[in-house]
Amino acid sequence: MSTQLLTYISVNDGKIKRSSLEVLSRCNQLAEKHGGTSAAIVISDSVSGIADELKQYGPSAIYTIEDPIFKNHLNTPLLRAMSKAVEEIQPSVVAFASTEGSKDILGALAANKKAAALPDMSEFELSDGGVKGKRPVMASKIISAVEATGSPVFISVRSGSYDVAENETNPEITSIPFSFSDDDLKITLREIISASSDRIDLNEAEAVVAAGRGVKDEEGRELISELASVLNAGIGASRALTEAGAYDPSLQIGQTGKVVSPQLYIGVGISGAIQHVAGMANSKVVVAINKDPDAPIFDIADYGLVGDLYKVLPPFIEELKKV
Ligand code: FAD
Repeated sequence: MSTQLLTYISVNDGKIKRSSLEVLSRCNQLAEKHGGTSAAIVISDSVSGIADELKQYGPSAIYTIEDPIFKNHLNTPLLRAMSKAVEEIQPSVVAFASTEGSKDILGALAANKKAAALPDMSEFELSDGGVKGKRPVMASKIISAVEATGSPVFISVRSGSYDVAENETNPEITSIPFSFSDDDLKITLREIISASSDRIDLNEAEAVVAAGRGVKDEEGRELISELASVLNAGIGASRALTEAGAYDPSLQIGQTGKVVSPQLYIGVGISGAIQHVAGMANSKVVVAINKDPDAPIFDIADYGLVGDLYKVLPPFIEELKKV
């Protein structure tokens, strides 16, 4: 029987998350290689524009579930909807981007279907009767080779693991009926406190500027903001600075923070402790700015700038503005 892959398309504020398109592109590749199909599912309070946009990323079919309940990103309705979708579509592999949202439901969904889950993969491939691949563990000190058999297998994939490939198709769009009443929801949503909406999502950012303890004051943080703004980059921080309250904890990169893999990562005043590196080691190009030439971050950097950030950043930013 041919493999049917199904990618869950994560949507925020009406925008498709790039990390989901990376997973869909990989599933398309595998479907082509193994002679299967690669469908996408959108679950949202408003799906039509998203389903149309998805056509340019090559799914063989698009499934949608639309209901106002999805506006608030609550787990219970999403879990119920995905469960229904899996029953209807009968995929052999269900793939998510590894996000806070998918972390919440992947295990529950797999348990609900008595199926295997492989979370947080950095590579995946179809195997005989299942999925195999690689998964960084213990702050990326170990890369484990993992495999799960059965159908379906639920997986999630780290952002930045694959490129997004455009490939215009004309797939059928199928709406899956779904109903959910407020009584089904066992919680009451009281308030949503949003992070600043002009902040670039670290998981989605093509470039990330990360600040470390070397960034000592408001002047330093201004320089970080300016550099990020010139590069249209997301801002991250080491734990030294999130613990000191200089940056929001949600911006922490590392073992106990976010895992990012942008095209460009610039670490400013960051030493490169293993716990920080665990969160950025998969970045495509790493630039380090540090006044200590022996800082460990230079061991993993593609480009290094040895100097006092307060002196080197202003001319660096000016040069970038000219590009
Ligand atoms: P430091 O190590 O103090 O480095 C500051 C750097 O700035 C130095 O290299 C210095 O040379 C340079 N510098 C100083 N002044 C200037 C200047 N003017 N110009 C240029 N360079 C300058 N850390 C994380 O980041 N993320 C995590 O998720 C995380 N999880 C952890 C989990 C555990 C269980 C533990 C034990 C630790 C964890 N840590 C984490 C902490 C980690 O071990 C380091 O302490 C932390 O990453 C150090 O942050 P830093 O590089 O900003 O600071």
